[in-house]
Amino acid sequence: MKTMISNIDINDIDLKELKKHAKLISEGKTVIFPTETVYGLGANALDENAVKKIYEAKGRPSDNPLIVHIYNKKEVYNLAKDISEKAEVVMEKFWPGPITIILNKKSIVPKTTSGGLNTVAIRMPSHKIAREIIKQAGVPIAAPSANISGRPSPTKAKHVQEEMNGRVDGIVLGGDSNFGLESTVLDLTGNTPMILRPGSITKEDLEDVLGEVVIDPSLSKKEDNKKAKAPGMKYTHYAPDADVYIVSGTADDVIIKINNLIQDNIKKGLKTGVMCLDENKDKYNGEVVTLGNTLEEVASKLFDVLREMDKRNVDIVYSEEFESTGLGQAIMNRLLKSAGYKIIKA
Ligand code: AMP
Ligand code: MG
Repeated sequence: MKTMISNIDINDIDLKELKKHAKLISEGKTVIFPTETVYGLGANALDENAVKKIYEAKGRPSDNPLIVHIYNKKEVYNLAKDISEKAEVVMEKFWPGPITIILNKKSIVPKTTSGGLNTVAIRMPSHKIAREIIKQAGVPIAAPSANISGRPSPTKAKHVQEEMNGRVDGIVLGGDSNFGLESTVLDLTGNTPMILRPGSITKEDLEDVLGEVVIDPSLSKKEDNKKAKAPGMKYTHYAPDADVYIVSGTADDVIIKINNLIQDNIKKGLKTGVMCLDENKDKYNGEVVTLGNTLEEVASKLFDVLREMDKRNVDIVYSEEFESTGLGQAIMNRLLKSAGYKIIKA
C-alpha cells in the first residue's frame, strides 16, 4: 500500500496538507496521527469497513475494542446513552485530555468498533493536530495505538515510520507525544467508577472529583489477567524482542543483583540491557538506557526505551521497579505487561 506521509508542525499547522489526511478518513481510509498520549491509527469510527482496516493494519484481535476520538463534547450524546452525573464531571474536568470513558453505546456505533460489546470507549484528545484532523474529517475517529499488536506503543515519529509505513493510507508526523503512555480508561457504566487501564490521569486525580474510584483488581496479577474488564489488557503487550524482567528491592540491592545477573549472562554469551533512573546509570555494567529522573520522564520515555533495546540487540533486559502510586501505577502496569509479570527479588 502506498502511504501518504506529511510532516506537520504543531505550532504552525499546514491546514491544506492536514486536510488531505482528513479526506482520507472521510473516504473510509486509515491515517496515523499524533496525540498527546501516543500516536493513533485512525479511521471513521462509524464505518464498519473502515474500522476493519485498523484491525488488519495492526494485526489486532477483533474482540479488542477501539477508542472513539471526538472533537466536540456534543458528540458523546450521539454515541452513548445513560450518561451519568459522574461522567459529566469527568468530561468537564479532564477533557480535552488523556482520559477515555466507557459508556453504554448507541446503535450508531458499529459492533466492530466496540469489539462486540454494548459499551463504547470515548476520548476527546487535547493535541492540536489530533483535534484538527477530527474536526476536518467531520466524523468521530476510532484510533488505537499505531503499533503492530503486542509491540510498544509509538511515542515518536520515527517509531511510526519504522513500523507502519506501507500498512496505512496516511501518516501525519507531528513530533513526540507529550505523556507517552496511553490514556487512562475509566468505566462509568457501574455505580463506582472503575479504572480499567491506569494512565497519566491517576486514581488520586479522579478521586478528588468523584469520590470513590476503584482499579480493576485483575490488573495486578498475571493469573487474573484473563478476567480484565478491558479486553485489551488480557493480551501480551509492550513487548520488545528481548526477555524483560523487573528487579525489585532497595536501590542498593537492585544494583548489586542486576550486576551479578549481568556477569552470569556474559558467561552464557547473552547481552544484557538495563533500564534505570538517570542517577543510577553509571552503576551498571550492561547496555544502560536511562528512563530519566522523574515519574513524568519515565512515563514519556518508557516505550522509546523498550524499542531502543531492540535496536541494541540485547537478549535480556532488567528494569528497576517504580512505586505503584500516582503516575507510578500506570508505569508499573506497562512495565509488568512488557515483562510478562516476571519479577526478580533482589
Ligand atoms: P488502545 O486503543 O490500543 O489504546 O487500547 C484501548 C484500550 O481500551 C484497550 O485495552 C481496550 O480493550 C479498552 N477498551 C476499549 N473499549 C472498551 C470498552 N467498551 N470496554 C472496556 N474496555 C475497552
Ligand atoms: Mg494499544
